Amino acid sequence: MSRSKEAFKQAKEVIPGGVNSPARAFAAVDSDPLFIEKGTGALIYDIEGNEYIDYVGSWGPMILGYNHPQVIESLQQQLMKGTSFGAPTEVETELAKLVIGAVDSIDQVRMVNSGTEATMSALRLARGYTGKDKIIKLKGCYHGHGDSLLVEAGSGVTTLGISGSPGVPDEIAEETIVAPYNNLEAIEEIYNTYQGQIAAVILEPVTGNMGVIRPQVGYLEGLREITATNNSLLIFDEVMTGFRLAYGGAQELYEIEPDITTLGKIIGGGLPVGAYGGKKEIMEYVAPAGPVYQAGTLSGNPLAMAAGIETLKLLQQPGVYSMLEEKAAKLEKGFKDNIKQLEVAADVSRVGSMFSIFFTDKQVIDYKTAKESDTDAFTTYFKQMLAAGIYLPPSQFESNFVSLAHVEADLDATIEANYNALAKVK
Ligand code: PLP
Repeated sequence: MSRSKEAFKQAKEVIPGGVNSPARAFAAVDSDPLFIEKGTGALIYDIEGNEYIDYVGSWGPMILGYNHPQVIESLQQQLMKGTSFGAPTEVETELAKLVIGAVDSIDQVRMVNSGTEATMSALRLARGYTGKDKIIKLKGCYHGHGDSLLVEAGSGVTTLGISGSPGVPDEIAEETIVAPYNNLEAIEEIYNTYQGQIAAVILEPVTGNMGVIRPQVGYLEGLREITATNNSLLIFDEVMTGFRLAYGGAQELYEIEPDITTLGKIIGGGLPVGAYGGKKEIMEYVAPAGPVYQAGTLSGNPLAMAAGIETLKLLQQPGVYSMLEEKAAKLEKGFKDNIKQLEVAADVSRVGSMFSIFFTDKQVIDYKTAKESDTDAFTTYFKQMLAAGIYLPPSQFESNFVSLAHVEADLDATIEANYNALAKVK
């Protein structure tokens, strides 16, 4: 038995399913997970010492690659001062200023500990601020595991949400109305049906959690207009896209200002973090400035702040985002050439340094079309890539992440492995 298999067996005895977050279990690709020992740059090593070129990046945060020396140095300095005080520290203000400097729609920002907390808190704030209870969520978007957001769609666009998990009370799920992504008519229909009741629309402006899907031309503009007309809020969940697609996130790229933005992943430089922010008028509804309660023992944790500050400073360097674009574009071209040459029914969907391969010959524009992809083909592809030393997210419905640490040789090796893996999919 391999060491990872043995480690998984032991973990399953003491941790539900052997993992602390379900996607890590590799169940979607019918495999056992690798147990990771360490990472450096674009590479990770399992506990047997096998090396992999990594495109998971801890599911997004590791945009600089693993163990960036400046981030480690910052962490070491903070570590010597203390790990948590539960009292204000200057590093919290410093990271807040960096976030506000980067994202135009944010005047004030509150730090929390995860993306889940950020979206839960953003919803409470939207409800408290507007005095309305219902929210619209888009099918296939993931916003963490908060009750209101763990809701699947019914069959019709205005169908009341049904619980996506036992334990989510129907009364809570019913306050969440699910609409298909990239479909403005569906949103308008919901606003007509529930006039004066919708607190907010929340979405991933570019999706990563049903695979990478870009917003169609005019879609984000339309959402901005409909929400404003109806006195509800537009929430961009940029936990994944923030500081990833551009320094100012998807909202910089598409030039749309939401009312509330949620952040996470990159702003913690690999330590647990989340944040939500927006215009001062809205954020001042949050306690203790205002009546909407939200708190956290470890919120604004100085280690997470130190790693985040250093990461954002490094991302401010000129040319960083064009470098990421070049690397990711090279992979896209290589993969697309392979797909064409081998005549595989697949396509690469990419925005900046986020990309997915969908095994389908249809255009993927929403959850329905994404789900029509061939998951068996993906499983074969995934296993071949892993055997060739390329570590990918273990599901077709996830985003791959290119980091600044991926060098030409990594990209060339990945394109070659992609060719061989696609040849096996055929
Ligand atoms: N929002 C988005 C867009 C995400 O991708 C995720 C996690 O992948 C979350 C929220 C939840 O963040 P966390 O896992 O830190 O709770």
